Amino acid sequence: MQFIDPANKQPGSDSGKNLIVGKGIAGLTLAFRFLQEKIPFQIVDKGDGKPSSAVASGLINPVVVKHFGLSWMGQEFFRESEKFYRQTEQLLNTQVYYSQPIFRVFEDDQQINRWNEKRAEGGINDFTEEATNQAPVFLKAPYGGGLIHKAARVDVEQFFKATTRFFESMGLLKEEWFDVKNLQPDGTGWRYKGDHYDRVFFCQGIASRDNPLWNWLPVNPAKGQLVSIKHPAPDPLLAISQKIFVLPQGGDTFKVGATFEKTTEPGITSEAMTHLQQKFDQLIHGEQHGFTIVRKYYGFRPTVLDRKPLLGRHPVFDNLFFFNGLGSKGYMTAPWLSKHLYEHLFEGGELLKEVDLERYSLNYM
Ligand SMILES: Cc1cc2nc3c(=O)[nH]c(=O)nc-3n(C[C@H](O)[C@H](O)[C@H](O)COP(=O)(O)OP(=O)(O)OC[C@H]3O[C@@H](n4cnc5c(N)ncnc54)[C@H](O)[C@@H]3O)c2cc1C
Repeated sequence: MQFIDPANKQPGSDSGKNLIVGKGIAGLTLAFRFLQEKIPFQIVDKGDGKPSSAVASGLINPVVVKHFGLSWMGQEFFRESEKFYRQTEQLLNTQVYYSQPIFRVFEDDQQINRWNEKRAEGGINDFTEEATNQAPVFLKAPYGGGLIHKAARVDVEQFFKATTRFFESMGLLKEEWFDVKNLQPDGTGWRYKGDHYDRVFFCQGIASRDNPLWNWLPVNPAKGQLVSIKHPAPDPLLAISQKIFVLPQGGDTFKVGATFEKTTEPGITSEAMTHLQQKFDQLIHGEQHGFTIVRKYYGFRPTVLDRKPLLGRHPVFDNLFFFNGLGSKGYMTAPWLSKHLYEHLFEGGELLKEVDLERYSLNYM
């Protein structure tokens, strides 16, 4: 696949000019898709917010660690995400995507059987190995665990730094707050601050709740808190999962988290910090080294009642589109979903009904 500057687009195309509101993982994957397809676009994002995408751990794991099944469309999402990040690395000229094996620590004997049953059913075979009682020595794992050998991690910080620089250098990113009051229909599309756009794509994460065009859709914030720590005990190459994730960040640095809280209250809480420390201590030997926190993060996942993303067009206003509801898995799902949205709009593909926001259109009445 070749990416081409929209400024050099061949004449005669009728794809028009597009505005993308939001440069979280939803907006960015859509922007890279447009770039690849030579579709002109502009991104607008206020830049100093706390987008969920910037605090995420960036883990890409198609196996559901709670019940050991394959997540919905796990194969497709995983395959497309690997392709997308590898291609994007070439454009950004930096590595952002890493293979990341995960050891799921079992809590009891039954989980050994459940893991092996799920493997026997076939869904997770491509991604996992048989249950083992040979856990790495630094783990407190009396029941052993299962290895998810095919999983990955995006270096979120590097990805954001590099993409921001990349789109800024092309003049495709405006760092400002988008005020929906300045958006007016102009006959063939929309006018925003003097510029005409044929289509506007809203990729705002939980901020869509404050947007009168879209606040009828059930995007619910699920708060997550996580910490970056230094600790000598865990393996610097192996991620650990039980009630929390311990995710290598290079050397003796790990991300530990995240919490899942149904609150809209901003900020770091001492309860969450204690919870993460306790879970870490229950899992990893080496309490004498202490749990040295180097950074604390929080953000809000844009979740949906039925746990499926929300894509599609506005029920009333032409040429306004929504790409949201990525929940806990935006890094894995957004590459496939942005391609799907592109194919729907520009190549006549049908939108999967599971992701089509039309399923909530009764809310609009
Ligand atoms: C603690 C935590 C850990 C996570 N870990 C993982 C993980 O390991 N793997 C994974 O896949 N997912 C993870 N997630 C989930 C993931 O972060 C989300 O699925 C994803 O980031 C959602 O992306 P988004 O682009 O829809 O929204 P966001 O990332 O929130 O982006 C929305 C953007 O829109 C901008 N915006 C909104 N309104 C306006 C406006 N009016 N004007 C200008 N700009 C605007 C905001 O500034 C923001 O940049 C985690 C989430 C949290 C909170």
